[in-house]
Amino acid sequence: MSSAPICPTSETPSTLVELNSIIVDCRLCERLVTYREEVARVKRRAFLDQAYWGRPIPGWGDPLARVWIVGLAPAAHGGNRTGRVFTGDRSGDFLYAALHRAGFASQPTSVSRDDGLHMTDAYLSAAVRCAPPDNKPLPEEFAACRPYLDADLRLLTQVRVVLALGKIAFDAAIRALSDAGQTVMGARPVFGHNVAYQIGRYHLISSYHPSQRNTQTGLLTAAMMDQVLARVKENLEL
Ligand code: SF4
Repeated sequence: MSSAPICPTSETPSTLVELNSIIVDCRLCERLVTYREEVARVKRRAFLDQAYWGRPIPGWGDPLARVWIVGLAPAAHGGNRTGRVFTGDRSGDFLYAALHRAGFASQPTSVSRDDGLHMTDAYLSAAVRCAPPDNKPLPEEFAACRPYLDADLRLLTQVRVVLALGKIAFDAAIRALSDAGQTVMGARPVFGHNVAYQIGRYHLISSYHPSQRNTQTGLLTAAMMDQVLARVKENLEL
């Protein structure tokens, strides 16, 4: 297990609610705190009438989930605006529509924290909880946020399948699994689309990230995402 402190002043959280209350108050990364708050102050023209969240984004979903979905980081005008992971941007539109088709999401859209959406058997987290400039966190920001991902995995006791969205999330998920004492069985994991590995007692599946660039260029289609989620469900039965 990682020995890094989860937060300078906190005890180790024993519930997801407790963990998330710590995450939303975190100010460890000066660069990201400045950026997330500046974006929340200036806003985008289309959202000038909205109160931006402007804080770290906690994980959310079914606390008894067997599927843990790991993304990169919130978008400046998506999660950083709405306060929920993959909510309020094109990536989320694509992802939640697929999660709805697969039966994990109660509705195909995710627009705000009070839109009535709930998740069944799936929980979503980000490797870095604060929106980074140009969607590119620095190595030290991944390191600072890593204990939160470790804590999610520790507290999501029913997880069997980890779905990593994109190469960076894939690497972060492997680190979290390693921190949890899980070892790779077989070949060293290499990122690819719809590729599965066994790591300890978990199945790790990777997918291209549902970024607008990937979905608009056709690198990742709805049918491809459906295939990944079908594989996730198959792996739940293994
Ligand atoms: S990225 Fe993570 S560690 Fe850094 S300030 Fe945000 S929540 Fe804290």
